[in-house]
Amino acid sequence: MQRPRTGRLLAGAFIIALLGAGLLGWRYHAEIVPRPYNPFTELDVADETSFATRFKLMRAGADAAYCRRALATSDLEISTLPDMPTVDGCGLENGVRVSGGAVALSGAFTATCPLALSYAMFERHVARPAARMYFGAEIRSITHVGSHVCRNVAGTDRRSDHATANALDVTAFTLVSGARVDILRDWPDDDREARFLRQLRDGACRYFRGVLGPDYNSAHADHFHFAAAGFSVCR
Ligand SMILES: [Zn+2]
Repeated sequence: MQRPRTGRLLAGAFIIALLGAGLLGWRYHAEIVPRPYNPFTELDVADETSFATRFKLMRAGADAAYCRRALATSDLEISTLPDMPTVDGCGLENGVRVSGGAVALSGAFTATCPLALSYAMFERHVARPAARMYFGAEIRSITHVGSHVCRNVAGTDRRSDHATANALDVTAFTLVSGARVDILRDWPDDDREARFLRQLRDGACRYFRGVLGPDYNSAHADHFHFAAAGFSVCR
């Protein structure tokens, strides 16, 4: 009776050892597993996304220096902001000022590094491909209505993700032709613009921790709330 059990234990130990050796090999021979698929290499915003991307974004959320290096690979213009001590739930840590790159912004915004990085990933891997797919065109600019405001979630006594620059509110997307897709106007329809916006909302959920839009409640009828903190939600 003992022998088969010992055999199974040995087989289990052998498999674990093999997996361990495989992981070590992966870690120390990054050239074998290309960067986009290797969770132990750094995130480059331009890389094709894979199962490893979420792991890298989690790392960026926990490691400020890693986040800054990853953000520097995007074509956004980034400048560092001094920390603002958190007082009464409002402040700024690991903050940057984000200006547009290939896709312009209606205005620069203040964000934590993880929020800026999620935005860079969304712009590159969701918004631009969706515009090409639905309109055969590039996006000229993304319109937002702010990110860093010391306030509560509307109708509650709970601080908003905006209080710590962990959320960005986006309202519209303008194509190079000048055509504008506006969440308030175009979301309720059943046309190409509406489908484009739904693809953006769904795609955003891969890169932001929280995404709220018109389907969530009437307070979000005119914008997407993209958050890098708080509870994980996609509606
Ligand atoms: Zn918001």
